[in-house]
Amino acid sequence: MNLTKYVQEVSLEDFGRPFLHQAIWNNRLRSTGGRFFPKDGHLDFNPRILEGFGWEIFRKIVRHELCHYHLYYMKKGYRHQDQDFKDLLKEVGGLRYAPSVDKENYKIYVCTSCGQEFRRKRQINLQKYRCGRCGGLLRYQGTTKLGNRP
Ligand SMILES: [Zn+2]
Ligand SMILES: [Zn+2]
Repeated sequence: MNLTKYVQEVSLEDFGRPFLHQAIWNNRLRSTGGRFFPKDGHLDFNPRILEGFGWEIFRKIVRHELCHYHLYYMKKGYRHQDQDFKDLLKEVGGLRYAPSVDKENYKIYVCTSCGQEFRRKRQINLQKYRCGRCGGLLRYQGTTKLGNRP
């Protein structure tokens, strides 16, 4: 199947807006289901999400990446911590977090200042650890287990 064509369809059906760039399978994506590249507008997707969880879940991952994509070109808040992003994701029914593609269940932590996500197998001490990128406080967000996300 043609991934770009599929993303174009989801974009028109679920957002009413055209997807004008490329969508590419990326086998090297590990814990994420997809990625948006503002530099050239393309999207990467993790083929193991489709293989492991089927079309329904995969479509929700596509919606998630399209939220980044469309908001970016609308010059709205396109990052995870932005309210525009949260609102649109809810509206179109996108997944906030990709399900874990391996058997491992990861705990998700989010930096309260820069929005960076961290996944760890073990629980971390929130009193002790800070965001590796900006030094901000971390918040526990749930796990990657399906149906167990905020
Ligand atoms: Zn995202
Ligand atoms: Zn941070």
